[in-house]
Amino acid sequence: KEGRGIYRIYSPEMGSNMRRYHYLLEEMRVALDTNSFTLSFQPIINVDGSAISYFEALVRWHHPAEGSIAPSEFIPIAEDSNLILKLGDWILDEACRQMAAWYNAGMSKTRISVNLSGVQLKHRSLYQWVMASLNKIGLPPSSLMLEITESSFIDLSDNTVDELNKLRNEGIIIAIDDFGTGFSSLSLLANLPVDVLKIDKLFVSQATKNTKYNKIIQSIADLSKQLDLKVVAEGIEDIEQLELLKSLGIVYIQGYLISRPQTSAHVGDKVLKQSVS
Ligand code: C2E
Ligand code: CA
Ligand code: CA
Repeated sequence: KEGRGIYRIYSPEMGSNMRRYHYLLEEMRVALDTNSFTLSFQPIINVDGSAISYFEALVRWHHPAEGSIAPSEFIPIAEDSNLILKLGDWILDEACRQMAAWYNAGMSKTRISVNLSGVQLKHRSLYQWVMASLNKIGLPPSSLMLEITESSFIDLSDNTVDELNKLRNEGIIIAIDDFGTGFSSLSLLANLPVDVLKIDKLFVSQATKNTKYNKIIQSIADLSKQLDLKVVAEGIEDIEQLELLKSLGIVYIQGYLISRPQTSAHVGDKVLKQSVS
């Protein structure tokens, strides 16, 4: 796979990794057929008010024998095997279905944010694919945000950039996910259709320990203001981090301090209670 002249020494660990890979791949196919994936939802809030702004949809897999398996383990396998296309179709539809239910229950100012894999960007005609899901479910585009990692942004084709522009014109928000962890140049921000930067939790966890990270975050916040972009900081776990990020000019936050990812039933209950009180 890596080309001619490349030799790999076999080790027993490789064998067990391969077995795990094929096992999980097979089990993911079963899980898709038996509708065993679920979505969790984590709020992204504005630090100024208490109004909930967005919910990020995060896929969950509870395996009957293995228990819960982390997305960081199964998403890369799904991407490598292209099963992410089928899984990603389900995720987009399910996220839109859930958002439509919340919309109809009165949460019409909220957006659902869906993670897209680079593989989906390559193999799906993005505009048609996303609009078909929205139309089928009856969700307005203004209720959707799409998260694309910085590393996938780097090798977008011109055609995909056009499609992203068309989606933005419909009212969908585009976010760069894991911002700061890739090796993109700043011209990305000048040339690509982007509305939101999501600063990776790595930066947040370092910010209270290392003043350089602190300054990088402040620079991203300043730059975003100039470019009219919104910034979300993810992975906020304690008050110290929250206060620091606020002081650096970060407005949107996401993390365990505010809420862990939750089931749709839990989110629905909470929102209903807030609207009653
Ligand atoms: P991500 O998109 O950067 O998502 C944020 C991750 O950070 C989530 O992990 C979330 O549960 C976790 N998180 C949120 N707040 C905190 C916090 O305060 N502290 C810590 N330590 N972690 C926090 P999760 O759900 O395990 O997902 C991991 C990664 O898997 C995601 O990173 C994303 O790259 C991928 N992923 C998850 N769901 C999907 C999906 O539906 N589609 C695709 N393509 N990828 C997904
Ligand atoms: Ca994300
Ligand atoms: Ca991240």
